[in-house]
Amino acid sequence: MPYELPPLPYAYNALEPHIDEQTVRLHHDKHHKAYVDGLNNAEAKLLEAREKGDFGLVKHWSRELAFHGSGHILHSLYWAILAPAGKGGGKPDGELLRQIEADFGSFDGFVKQFTAAATAVEGSGWAVLALSPLGKKLEILTAEKHQDLTQWGCMPILTVDVWEHAYYLKYQNRRAEYVAAWWNLVNWPEAAQRLANAVKKL
Ligand code: FE
Repeated sequence: MPYELPPLPYAYNALEPHIDEQTVRLHHDKHHKAYVDGLNNAEAKLLEAREKGDFGLVKHWSRELAFHGSGHILHSLYWAILAPAGKGGGKPDGELLRQIEADFGSFDGFVKQFTAAATAVEGSGWAVLALSPLGKKLEILTAEKHQDLTQWGCMPILTVDVWEHAYYLKYQNRRAEYVAAWWNLVNWPEAAQRLANAVKKL
């Protein structure tokens, strides 16, 4: 079954004024869609190359698969853990808050570290809060592009896209302003559910 672009769980303008409608339209319908198409193409070509025993091409299409596949997974998570303006932001509660406090000292300390990580990604990439199966700890990771410098086995809970296509129309080079605005949209109940699901898989 080919991969499909998941529909946005809210209207294109629902993230205004923090993330503008035009950016969301382009980001979801064009950029995310391109990763889905790239993933489907890479899977088909990889299968073909394997059948032919052409291992040079296997290497090439494996890289394409990692790039587009990670792009699809991270974008799907990015949309899912945002809520319409006015309905997100604030602080988590329950087990997610307890785990954040245990692993980062405090919620404010976590916000500072995650913000710094997102702001400092070199070039295009992501900041990710992930559950590491080793020691069952939450960790802040960054990825360049979608897949470089990532960690195997970690289960992403929360992510912010810091490719320029995610913010440039409204924020231009002011990535830190975009990240600060992004916190107002985080859907904490959704992130908490994702942590609970990840813990079950340990
Ligand atoms: Fe993106």
